[in-house]
Amino acid sequence: MALLNFRTDAESLIGAASADNAALLQSQGRGPLTSNIGEAGGFLRSRDELDAPDLQFHAAPALFHQEGLGPVAEHGFSFGPCVLAPTSRGAVALRTPRPDVAPRIVHNYLTTARDRDALVAGIRIALEIAEQRAVADLVTGPYDVPAADSDTELLAWAQRSGQTLYHPTSTCAIGSVVDPELRVYDVEGLRVVDASVFPAVPRGNTNAPTIMAAEKAADLVKGAA
Ligand SMILES: Cc1cc2nc3c(=O)[nH]c(=O)nc-3n(C[C@H](O)[C@H](O)[C@H](O)COP(=O)(O)OP(=O)(O)OC[C@H]3O[C@@H](n4cnc5c(N)ncnc54)[C@H](O)[C@@H]3O)c2cc1C
Repeated sequence: MALLNFRTDAESLIGAASADNAALLQSQGRGPLTSNIGEAGGFLRSRDELDAPDLQFHAAPALFHQEGLGPVAEHGFSFGPCVLAPTSRGAVALRTPRPDVAPRIVHNYLTTARDRDALVAGIRIALEIAEQRAVADLVTGPYDVPAADSDTELLAWAQRSGQTLYHPTSTCAIGSVVDPELRVYDVEGLRVVDASVFPAVPRGNTNAPTIMAAEKAADLVKGAA
């Protein structure tokens, strides 16, 4: 995901966590603390000939950089693309047979031309949106925005400023590690039930599909499926 971050002098969520806003939320159920932060978004195709969207946009009334953990002391907003159904493949492997040792996780983001091209196309769309008057009128300056628009520059910016959307899946996929009833191949009495069993990364957020897999698994365990 590559979010363009702009400064603004309009009010953003930076001061949302005040006592007044907490009181407003509690007494009237409204105000800045009702924000889910990712307040707007959409799905689009980077190329007309695609059957399904390959980009998801998120927009937030706050600066959002360094995974949302960076120090932020000014008003701003952010929006940008995330590559859907990525073709780059990472891996999770054991480092040692000890269960208390963290696994080796290799993400391999943007290692295919398809993913890089889709992201660069998405950044161009975001830059075009930023030029529209409704957005441009709010901008007082760039906070973290690509400074040039060649493919190489846009990709380099995405590699510097890009973040994950916390949607890792498919490391224990149906068909390779577990069977369609989520039983681990060649291991008696063991099922895996989480986002790792998805055969492919979904084109969107992963919480709802995880709940769906869990409910299906509960039925399978009960023998009700
Ligand atoms: C910051 C963040 C924001 C997100 N926002 C969204 C969103 O807005 N919308 C959306 O759809 N998705 C979102 N996601 C993704 C979504 O939360 C995950 O896809 C989903 O939770 C995956 O479910 P899971 O069951 O596979 O793993 P998890 O939800 O991570 O559950 C794993 C559980 O296993 C437990 N555990 C780990 N190790 C052990 C152990 N050794 N023994 C016992 N228990 C253990 C953990 O404590 C945890 O409770 C977000 C994720 C993050 C991190």
